[in-house]
Amino acid sequence: MTDCLFCKIAAGTIPAKMIHQDDLVVAFDDINPQAPQHKIIIPRKHIATLNDIDSHDNMLIGHMVQTATQLAKMLNIADHGYRLVMNCNPGAGQTVFHIHFHLLGGRQMTWPPG
Ligand code: AMP
Ligand code: ZN
Repeated sequence: MTDCLFCKIAAGTIPAKMIHQDDLVVAFDDINPQAPQHKIIIPRKHIATLNDIDSHDNMLIGHMVQTATQLAKMLNIADHGYRLVMNCNPGAGQTVFHIHFHLLGGRQMTWPPG
């Protein structure tokens, strides 16, 4: 999608601090980190919200999860614990309408989230 921030980051037309790139997904530092480690994992495919995924996306979503768990291990936050979050629509705080996981770690998390 031409007018999407995360499509532009995936295409390399807007810079980001990349931590992982493959054929299906891209991961990079969040510009406004909410934890010592805060990475964003996106599919290259434009999907606006979690409500817009369908069964054809099952492998893609699985690959996003695998990428996140591998990054958590690489960043040494896997054993202590981390949070993998996807906000859906403004009521949950979604501000960029291209699905993404937040991978957050490096500090003690609280529950419930705000
Ligand atoms: P959400 O509010 O769940 O849609 O998450 C969007 C996330 O994207 C926020 O945590 C922002 O800090 C992050 N973000 C916005 N613009 C950029 C950017 N140019 N590079 C990296 N992260 C960004
Ligand atoms: Zn997009």
